[in-house]
Amino acid sequence: MTQITTDTTRSGSGMCCLVSGQVAFAGSGPGDPDLLTVKVLKALQEAEVVLFDRLVSAEVLALAGDHSQLEDVGKEGFGPSMSQEEICARLVTHAKAGKKVLRLKSGDPTIFGRLDEELTACEEAGVAYQIMPGITAASAAVAGIGQSLTQRGRNSSVRFLTGHDMKGFADQDWAALARPSEVAAVYMGKKSARFVQGRMIMHGANRATPVTVVENASRADQRVLETTLERLPTDLAEAAFDGPALTFLGLAPRQSAAALAELNMELA
Ligand code: SAH
Repeated sequence: MTQITTDTTRSGSGMCCLVSGQVAFAGSGPGDPDLLTVKVLKALQEAEVVLFDRLVSAEVLALAGDHSQLEDVGKEGFGPSMSQEEICARLVTHAKAGKKVLRLKSGDPTIFGRLDEELTACEEAGVAYQIMPGITAASAAVAGIGQSLTQRGRNSSVRFLTGHDMKGFADQDWAALARPSEVAAVYMGKKSARFVQGRMIMHGANRATPVTVVENASRADQRVLETTLERLPTDLAEAAFDGPALTFLGLAPRQSAAALAELNMELA
């Protein structure tokens, strides 16, 4: 029988739950500091060492406690600027030195966050840890286009997939994705846009399938590209997004920005 353990990390108000010599793996959300959970905010203020990734926003980092030591272990694209081994080693070293360590990852740490490598490193070193969820990019991006990830009568499941993995372009169940009304959120999908488009069409997807790319979701500089499967690579190249971008296959914005602005004006 599986033993269910009680969550001892829950805290009410006031101080959070960081423990000296332990690591908290936390999600910073998609960038807007208001999308941090209260728990992660408390952890950020309490941590003695914060190891953060490239996509953790400056606004979030600004909320760290005055005494917190901030370490940028940012990974650029697919080539980590600091190796995974080195990041694991630093986590373990700080924890063994008795620090309250916060490992801050963008979005939710359990989604394309290379969390398991770091959990394993802690386990092997006998370092205790906890995981604090965050709002993933797909949730922020879909909110930004007024859509739902699932909708009765349209799609009863949604896929989170990556265009790229460590071996290159990531293979997926293209036949399933190509079916009408399917919805997928593609992380790290900019470079693989043409590959994804090609595979989808090869498996029978309608070329007119709506596709929306949201850059910098939840941030002040958020941009939305509304396109189709047919036009995706061309329009994406033209848009020249240089921030993190989330691609939705099978979703168009609920309303065009202009229509929404008009509606807001009418209601004001
Ligand atoms: N753990 C993160 C994902 C890390 S992978 C999460 O849960 O969100 C990095 C990819 O996430 C980026 O290439 C991009 O596709 C997506 N991403 C992260 N932040 C984003 C943002 N603010 N807007 C759009 N996409 C974002």
